[in-house]
Amino acid sequence: MASTGDPVCRLCRREGERLYLKGARCYGKKCPFSKPDMPVPPGQHGHGRQAKLSNYGIQLREKQKLRRIYVLREKQFHNYVLEANRRTGVTGENLLQILEMRLDNVIYRLGFSASRLQARQFVGHGHVKVNGRQVDIPSYMVRPGDKVEIAEKSRKIAPLQDAVKTAQLSRVPEWLRVNHDQMAGEVLEAPSRQQIDTDVEEALIVEFYSR
Ligand code: SF4
Repeated sequence: MASTGDPVCRLCRREGERLYLKGARCYGKKCPFSKPDMPVPPGQHGHGRQAKLSNYGIQLREKQKLRRIYVLREKQFHNYVLEANRRTGVTGENLLQILEMRLDNVIYRLGFSASRLQARQFVGHGHVKVNGRQVDIPSYMVRPGDKVEIAEKSRKIAPLQDAVKTAQLSRVPEWLRVNHDQMAGEVLEAPSRQQIDTDVEEALIVEFYSR
């Protein structure tokens, strides 16, 4: 339930916007953001105070937002930033591409889970195979050409079936191909920035870490 005290919803309230961390439930009336009065950040200091942010504060908030969308701890997120920096190309785009290529994200994008958090649980519980082999590491990085599927023994699990029913109504990104009936998909290519709908200003995050 998405009451205002819900620990997951608190992350959205902290960022002042819906981060859709609970999948389909985020579109219902229980989302605090569906209430007429905009929720304030959680905690005693959130009430009635909207401080003007410094440049540093703006960059920090953007970083926290992206980290929360992909449900990552700071250390792991920072490691991804370092990896993005090592790669050729634009660091911010590299970062988003790395995040998108995580196995838990791919499961979510294929519509086999209602949220990234749930995708992580499915992977961790051994419900996912990559190229025919069970992979239970949510941070596993997929590559173009990889075949990702829900293990046959797991396909009747109710939350998975519910997620697939909902996903069939929505669009799967074009860098992925999916067969919802068989609960299987393929990574066609690494996504470009235009193919990633994450609403974030990644340049601010790169600036945050270059201080
Ligand atoms: Fe909670 Fe989802 Fe609303 Fe965020 S978008 S506040 S996770 S219900």
